[in-house]
Amino acid sequence: MGYEVVVDKEKCEGCEECIEVCPVDVYEMVDEKSEPVNAEECLGCESCIEVCEHEAIVITEV
Ligand code: SF4
Ligand code: SF4
Repeated sequence: MGYEVVVDKEKCEGCEECIEVCPVDVYEMVDEKSEPVNAEECLGCESCIEVCEHEAIVITEV
């Protein structure tokens, strides 16, 4: 069991809030957008969803 992490690049404004808040460093900045490079580490805490003012992040249990 784990989580799929998707960032909608059309909605992401590159504020880096999700990078700051994620306890397991799922995200890195790539071309000024957040990229979920370590999605396999995701805990499903949804802190990143709460801080993203642009509703760019979708977490799905898989
Ligand atoms: S919090 Fe949202 S808008 Fe900000 S960098 Fe992360 S995905 Fe992009
Ligand atoms: S749900 Fe939690 S662990 Fe997963 S990417 Fe968001 S902040 Fe990181």
